[in-house]
Amino acid sequence: MKYVYTFGDGKAEGKADMKNLLGGKGANLAEMNLLGIPVPPGFTITTEVCTHYYNNKLVFPETLNDQTIIALNNIESIMKLGFGDRKNPLLVSVRSGARQSMPGMMETVLNIGLTSNTIPGLIEKTSNPRFVYDAYRRLITMYADVVMEKASGLEPEDGHGIRHKLEKIFDDYKQNKGLINDTDLSGDQLQDIADSFKHEIKSTLGQEFPDDPYDQLWGGIEAVFKSWNGARAKSYRQIENIPGEWGTAVNIQAMVFGNMGDDSATGVAFTRNPATGDNKFYGEWLVNAQGEDVVAGLRTPNPLNEATKTDDTKSLLSLETSSPELYQELHGIRNKLENHYLDMQDIEFTIQEGRLWMLQTRVGKRNGQAAIKMAVDMVKENMISKTTAINRVKPEQLDELLHPMLDPKSEDNATILAKGLPAGPGGASGKLVFTADDAEEWNKKGEQVILLREETSPEDVHGMHAAVAILTAKGGMTSHAALVARGWGKCCIVGCSDLHIDLTKKEVHIGDNILKEGDWITMNGTFGKIYKGQLDLIPADPDSNNEYKQLMMWADEYRELRIRTNAESPADAKQAIKFGAEGIGLCRTEHMFFDEDRILAMRKMILAADKESRRSAVMELLPYQKNDFIGIFRAMEELPVTIRLLDPPLHEFMSLDDDQITELSDHLNLDKSVVQKRMVGLHELNPMLGHRGCRLGIAYPEITEMQARAILEAVAELTKEGINVFPEIMIPLVGTVSEFVHQENIVRQIAEEISQESGFKLNYLVGTMIELPRACLTADKIAEHAEFFSFGTNDLTQTTYGYSRDDIGSFLPEYLDKNILSHDPFQSLDTNGVGKLVSLATRDGKKTNNDLKIGICGEHGGDPASIHFCMKTGLDYVSCSPFRVPIARLAAAQAALNLNS
Ligand code: PEP
Ligand code: MG
Repeated sequence: MKYVYTFGDGKAEGKADMKNLLGGKGANLAEMNLLGIPVPPGFTITTEVCTHYYNNKLVFPETLNDQTIIALNNIESIMKLGFGDRKNPLLVSVRSGARQSMPGMMETVLNIGLTSNTIPGLIEKTSNPRFVYDAYRRLITMYADVVMEKASGLEPEDGHGIRHKLEKIFDDYKQNKGLINDTDLSGDQLQDIADSFKHEIKSTLGQEFPDDPYDQLWGGIEAVFKSWNGARAKSYRQIENIPGEWGTAVNIQAMVFGNMGDDSATGVAFTRNPATGDNKFYGEWLVNAQGEDVVAGLRTPNPLNEATKTDDTKSLLSLETSSPELYQELHGIRNKLENHYLDMQDIEFTIQEGRLWMLQTRVGKRNGQAAIKMAVDMVKENMISKTTAINRVKPEQLDELLHPMLDPKSEDNATILAKGLPAGPGGASGKLVFTADDAEEWNKKGEQVILLREETSPEDVHGMHAAVAILTAKGGMTSHAALVARGWGKCCIVGCSDLHIDLTKKEVHIGDNILKEGDWITMNGTFGKIYKGQLDLIPADPDSNNEYKQLMMWADEYRELRIRTNAESPADAKQAIKFGAEGIGLCRTEHMFFDEDRILAMRKMILAADKESRRSAVMELLPYQKNDFIGIFRAMEELPVTIRLLDPPLHEFMSLDDDQITELSDHLNLDKSVVQKRMVGLHELNPMLGHRGCRLGIAYPEITEMQARAILEAVAELTKEGINVFPEIMIPLVGTVSEFVHQENIVRQIAEEISQESGFKLNYLVGTMIELPRACLTADKIAEHAEFFSFGTNDLTQTTYGYSRDDIGSFLPEYLDKNILSHDPFQSLDTNGVGKLVSLATRDGKKTNNDLKIGICGEHGGDPASIHFCMKTGLDYVSCSPFRVPIARLAAAQAALNLNS
């Protein structure tokens, strides 16, 4: 069994398409070697070792040690250095690398191989003790944190572990000596610090920092594998839907140093701008630094070139100006990589004593706007095809274009508090919170929060996810906060140095302003501006974005599924049409009964003592309902509209406090006890399975009559005006064909009457929601009568799993954590179980009625994976909320391309 793949010197055992085995980083390091790009030699331990390790009680495969030593020898012979060699020591890095990039979620250890034996040799060779001890103190810090503490499970709960202690020693030392920058420390001083670090480690962790290079190497390798199951990585995997079985690979690579002096540097870059999509090489670099310094955001990095300087960076030296030849070489590699991978790349490089080395290339994360622009531009540049462009944009990324921006008028009048780097575009307002846990907690309580941190770390991801926007005092455009926010399309501002945070008091000082936890601020992530208070936001206007329009046009060329929307007001319907909806797939009529002018009639109906008074109360609602439908039919401009008859249990209309009970009984001239008694009577132990859906229309047929009349009178009126309308009347929660037939008869009877009254032949269909397993199992019978089916997968999921859709939150986190469920089945359709019922009902329904129209209107109708399933299953349309319509259009195009290829 081969567990180790080497690369170096223009040769590699792996290649780009071996990501599953070698992880993204390992596969691309191999590929860069094959492309003749300078990469420090190294090797990759496969993801299979990770899986083996976890499946075998944390033991490595037997031959791994031998294979690793052979691969290490290969590095030694290419670099002409020896691991542990006193004169010419080889140092290596150990890094994680999963199939899909998980920035900052797993561990890295650099400078492995520095020991009391190798340090003198390296000093002699480099004549640079400062550099050697700087590398050593970094190794000690990383190793103690990652290997000796985290991987050994010794991390304290408060998060103030060994790294925190060592950093404090370092900061105190600098302060005592009056030194400001890390680079101000001499070799002797760094050696002192390294000694103090080792003492601290011994006293805190009870173990010596290892002085054997192989102990360091294996400690590092094992810690990286362990970090795959660390809390951060697990929570990131859950958010990003990355399966736990994938495992990570580990890359061991010869160290090259960007901190060897002023002719050394390190940097990160994107082959195009990841925030705007502009076709400009974009990046940041730091002289005399190691890679972690750029990402950690402790020093403000310099811009890579002149073309991408901003107001904030215009005075800083670019690589293009300071080292034109190296910049040209890097630029050449940029072109080579983009032309090879045909996508925007995120690269890391190091310059060691004037020589350029590439450390990583991977497909760069980008926000939605940039993703669309790059995809469309690359078609125009003849790099990729239209279908590749369609596939390249994640449907959820469109969300960002559909999100609000700050209203310029309100922005003009606002007090600007500070400016930072615009890391994630769009606008957001929220209440300030200072910790990730607070962000999560406040969000659970329904608050809209902005998470403010000095800088973020992967430990903060849960809070970053819960916040509407992220703001940091430190860090650059490639800092952790910026990368994560961009991946999620969140509004984000970083590197805002005017913010002085006092975490103990949970307040921030900005000039003369002091803001406390809970104070509102507003951010303009497109320009990096922060304002006091809550400013107006304006809805997004994707129509002004030409690349978006182009991409959606291409998507519609390939899409086969129709896209409808769930809407119950003319305003929502109009918004959905603007986004490309081709009809309403679900108009929930119950919302129409809650308006102030009609809730009284509704309650009167519920409280009616007999059939006659109930009928007369219901009929009071008729004119309102009719008007609602006229409004919606007009807004839908002759597109089909599916209207669902009343569905929820009646107690939902009767949750009244004592004052409201008094008011209602006074108004209706009833004794208070009558209202109270009825309320008690409506109480059900299990209302979701109780008196609701078509069971209401069967018990109170006058409700169905009124609703059918309102719909069909609206149809007659518009038909008279020469407007074509296509209503589809939908009976909810049908479980037996007789339920359907009972309700259908009422509708058809009313239609007959109105047709005669108006003299028009009415255009309409009668169909049903399929949201109970029994309806799926008897779909052939129901389809003998129904003209359409619409899968109500919210209830169908609830009734198939037997999970309450309102209470799943109490156990879902546990289920996800223990891998009992891979995702929330109310968000993305359970294709194996619920989906099987959907397939069966579709097949059997079509068997008896070949013209049966079939759609879905549960929340899953806007979920890309579920849309893919709907297309595969042969549905005609999906219906989702207005703001998901563009997402559904793109997802449907991708499904068509995938299924037809
Ligand atoms: C459903 O059950 O999927 C559905 C769309 O109906 P509601 O969510 O209104 O129950
Ligand atoms: Mg339902």
